[in-house]
Amino acid sequence: MLQPQERKNSEQLFERAGKHIPGGVNSPVRAFKSVGGNPIFFSRAEGAYVFDEDDNRYIDFINSWGPMILGHGFPEVVEAVQMQAARAMSFGAPTELEIQLAETICEMTGIDMVRLVNSGTEACMSAIRLARGYTGRDKIIKFEGCYHGHGDSFLIKAGSGASTLGVPNSPGVTKGTATDTLTAPFNDLAAVEKLISENPDQIAAIITEPVAGNMGCVPPAEGYMEGLRALCDKHGIVFIMDEVMTGFRLAPGGAQERLGVEADLVCYGKVIGGGMPVGAFGGKREIFQHIAPTGPVYQAGTLSGNPLAVISGLTTLRYLQNHPEVYAHIDHMTERIEDGMREILENSKLPFTINRLGSMISIHFCENEVMDYTTASEGNNNYFKQFFHGMLNEGIYLPPSAYETWFVGNTIGESELEHTLYAAERVIEEMSAQ
Ligand code: PMP
Repeated sequence: MLQPQERKNSEQLFERAGKHIPGGVNSPVRAFKSVGGNPIFFSRAEGAYVFDEDDNRYIDFINSWGPMILGHGFPEVVEAVQMQAARAMSFGAPTELEIQLAETICEMTGIDMVRLVNSGTEACMSAIRLARGYTGRDKIIKFEGCYHGHGDSFLIKAGSGASTLGVPNSPGVTKGTATDTLTAPFNDLAAVEKLISENPDQIAAIITEPVAGNMGCVPPAEGYMEGLRALCDKHGIVFIMDEVMTGFRLAPGGAQERLGVEADLVCYGKVIGGGMPVGAFGGKREIFQHIAPTGPVYQAGTLSGNPLAVISGLTTLRYLQNHPEVYAHIDHMTERIEDGMREILENSKLPFTINRLGSMISIHFCENEVMDYTTASEGNNNYFKQFFHGMLNEGIYLPPSAYETWFVGNTIGESELEHTLYAAERVIEEMSAQ
């Protein structure tokens, strides 16, 4: 078991980082705010494992928040990136690689057209602009606890780091922007219907995570996605699925395929870049033709379609496309984590709810069903903190917030599963004894 003093180098780096980087981190959820303690600094990674600056080894259940679905240092991706780096890093001009990635994305997901960007945030911001430009309407509906990146329109009752820090409504977002974002509880169709009838012909888009992953994992209730689809059809609203987490993870065609519901526009990120900064938004040709330069809705990017990022994404997606057994494996391993954790927690005195869909899973320390942001907030954060730090000391790196999902990668095998459940048993036993 690790002791805090065995992370001396991380501690020193964190102190140094804080002098020039706000909070010592380049993205807030890395800061361990909701679990306490200081973040760990990492130096290298291999397969299912990450190594910190003190050379401690951890099984990685964050996987860069999703992208490293094939594990760290996947040889084909590393080789492809190295070769491309020697050939050319960036042109800011078209390349054949971009066509190949666009073709692969469209083949896997069934969408007609796609535009590459550099992050999930950009994908969601651009999708919303396109929906507004296409419909000529201003308002959007989003769901409490869903996170769509840090675009102004989305920082209203957002999940993930915004919830962790307790600032769902960020200063700096103007009142005008906030009034154009209407919010409803996730899994509540009646609330959406009410918003639509109160704002007739004003709603450009409904944007949702098809399986929420930013309030822990919250799957859609039976018929919920179909219900949203039907409401959009009835009222001429653009249905946007934010598949930044679920895309290429829940199935080759993401949540659209897994849930059998089609969106008008889709946003991608994470897995699509295989560890490099790539995002994308795409969808139906009829809508997509309105984007510049074919149409008037402006969207652009100096490094969009960057060859290094694209080759990393393309190699990852092609591997997934040709190896559907990856999906069977990560789903099966996550199911076994669920079963194991259920058994351990049932034998304890602790309240718990485990939500899982495919390789997305989270544990909330509460008895109630977790189906939206309000119910997700009922989890006991003290228990979560103890669980997180206990697991960390056992060499298991979990997301440092109850409002996040674990991401299981393809390199989790029998020994990692055994180690994880053995660690969990010890940690939960210690927590119950208190
Ligand atoms: N949408 C969802 C569903 C996400 O989970 C995230 C990031 N966690 C984003 C959008 C934003 O993506 P990025 O951090 O790449 O900007």
